[in-house]
Amino acid sequence: MLDINTSLKSVPRITPKYIRVLEKLGLFTVKDLLLYLPFRYDDFSKIVPLSNDFVGQAITTSGKIIKAKNNRLFRRKMTITEIILEDPNGFQLKAVWFNQPYILENFPVGSTARFSGKLGLNGKYFSMSNPAFEKSSRDTTNTGRLVPIYSETSGITSKWIRWQIKTLLPLAKNIPDILPEEIRKKYNLFDIYTTLSQIHFPDDIEKLIRAQKRMAFQEMFLVQIRTLEIRKNWGEKDSNKIKFDEKLIKKFTLELPFKLTDAQRKATFEILKDLEKPRPMNRLLNGDVGSGKTIVATISALQTVSAGYQVAIMAPTEVLARQHFLSFSELFKNYNFNLALLTSSYKLTCGGGSTSIMEAEPPKNIVREKLLSEIKTGKINLVIGTHALIQKDVKFKNLALVIIDEQHRFGVAQRATLQSETMNIDDGNIKAIPHLLTMTATPIPRTLAIAYFGSLDLSILDEMPKNRKPIITKIITPIGREKIYNFIRSEIKKGQQAFVILPLVEESISESMVDVKAVKEEHERLSQVIFPEFKLGLLHGKLKAKEKEGVMEDFKNKNFDILVSTSVVEVGIDIPNATVIVIENAERFGLTQLHQFRGRVGRGREQSYCFLFARGTEQKSLLPTRLKIMEKTNDGFEISEHDLKLRGPGQFFGTIQSGLPDITMENLSNIKLIKFARAEAAYLLENDPKLKGHPLLADALKKFSEKIHLE
Ligand code: ADP
Ligand code: MG
Repeated sequence: MLDINTSLKSVPRITPKYIRVLEKLGLFTVKDLLLYLPFRYDDFSKIVPLSNDFVGQAITTSGKIIKAKNNRLFRRKMTITEIILEDPNGFQLKAVWFNQPYILENFPVGSTARFSGKLGLNGKYFSMSNPAFEKSSRDTTNTGRLVPIYSETSGITSKWIRWQIKTLLPLAKNIPDILPEEIRKKYNLFDIYTTLSQIHFPDDIEKLIRAQKRMAFQEMFLVQIRTLEIRKNWGEKDSNKIKFDEKLIKKFTLELPFKLTDAQRKATFEILKDLEKPRPMNRLLNGDVGSGKTIVATISALQTVSAGYQVAIMAPTEVLARQHFLSFSELFKNYNFNLALLTSSYKLTCGGGSTSIMEAEPPKNIVREKLLSEIKTGKINLVIGTHALIQKDVKFKNLALVIIDEQHRFGVAQRATLQSETMNIDDGNIKAIPHLLTMTATPIPRTLAIAYFGSLDLSILDEMPKNRKPIITKIITPIGREKIYNFIRSEIKKGQQAFVILPLVEESISESMVDVKAVKEEHERLSQVIFPEFKLGLLHGKLKAKEKEGVMEDFKNKNFDILVSTSVVEVGIDIPNATVIVIENAERFGLTQLHQFRGRVGRGREQSYCFLFARGTEQKSLLPTRLKIMEKTNDGFEISEHDLKLRGPGQFFGTIQSGLPDITMENLSNIKLIKFARAEAAYLLENDPKLKGHPLLADALKKFSEKIHLE
């Protein structure tokens, strides 16, 4: 007898070959498979008679098979299967498949069948190529309905998954519902069985939407419970109270070469207020590239170090850590602080008391030992580094503030360790845990930030420093390419530098060799054909971390005029001399990502430019409208809101990272849903803080926390 907990290995139809693929997808039991949700649907729900009206549309039609044969084209080594179907009105449809001769068996002449696909017109016949099909006597699974499309990997098709799920679906009745019934009633949400039935095989679009809403509510409900737990937990810890020294801060800000923006002032104030509290701060500084997050972090560090405590600042890469180290050393040159740089290459840099920076590279472990001991004794006030900072042997004397820059670049696991390490950091004396300030690399829409980072307080830098010249952005069709190359030439002759960015060739998580080849070829073409007079650097994901750093350093030091790069180019890197960025195949990128690239320029005094090269069409009106948004605005928050609407929240965290299915992702940007889920989560925890009365929920939450880290 099959049950929801039965291993898929024991399901008669599923052979070992499939088991391997399913396990790769993380599917082990019947329940896992039933909870494997489609990511989109083909709408074949209208069963219609053949008619000119539907040519060009995806339809389902039904009729009698009147002819069926395989044509072998020996010379082209190809088989074409050709079926003629006649509908009740006597119109005929010719359907063809290529190199799938076995398909023929499904169509005995005289039987009836349904075909779904895009309807064409070919001479006297209506036509379809490669349609989905089904015997008319069967339930509609692959045709005649909203057909679910699952994310496929090599070895299994959506059709196969549909077939399996269809037969196993009745077992979904035994899946316990983790959403309490009161909540389901209150918000008119389907129970879990109805939800799964409608998600896999929707009766109609309304029911599908209701089912998706229920799934989204469930995910958001779990997110919010978890968030509230973290928040409560955090709020029960002790921290060092750091008194706000108004005179100190005033003096520092007056000595800056610029005036703080109102947004910076407000954020700084919020942080300094938090530092005064006996409970640890847990705050996200959400701001656009170039909005000046560093200075806000600097002031927080200044206050903390002046009060006699240590500060740790963590960046995702060595280049960024090093850049921060240099900025902080400069900003604190008039203060008698000791700064250290700690990265995994263990190269030690010390700066303190003056602008002079001491760099030493004697045998690595000796330097590291010395540095670690000085961190432990408290001689070093401020440590800047990569994740090398959270290794076990790094111990502080009295760490009171941890600042994490570009937090989304740290992997989920790293981020989780980071926070728990922050809580368990060995500070030698008291039980206090450090205040925590995280910073984003790119603006996150407010609703989303609240939904995902509800355990954090938010400070938002939604205002750019006044002295900025907005970057001029232009979409360039192929015909305009030459003109832009000439423009780049003139900029470089003026002493400026340029970036050329290439997208990944294949949709994949990491760069493949194909991508590396593409970027190498473009580098070669530009160096030899277009810009033989200039020096061009090359950056891609297959370089070792050290090599990447080297290339970025070289570019910064003007050893190259142009840097050709895949999308790995460092976010947050400051190259004020670069004034042009060209983005190839811009239509392949999302707006948020385009905006991030664009932020590589516009950091100096000169006017900067961003050229979006679009492939394939000379007609701007045919280009995706979203590209035009880039021409219209430089406001990162506005762009991220657009992007959220267009592509959903996945890209802000990455679906893989967050572990949420796309389908629910879409609903998660729904502010009302977030509010309700939050209210219900709060109510639940108030009445049942340990979830003793809700064991199903407690269990689901445990699994959920293993999968997703919201900290
Ligand atoms: P991000 O938010 O991307 O980390 P940074 O902190 O690196 O931005 O700031 C970008 C640049 O803007 C730096 O060179 C910084 O000195 C400068 N800057 C920061 N705040 C202001 C301000 N209020 N007025 C003028 N320039 C500023
Ligand atoms: Mg920054």
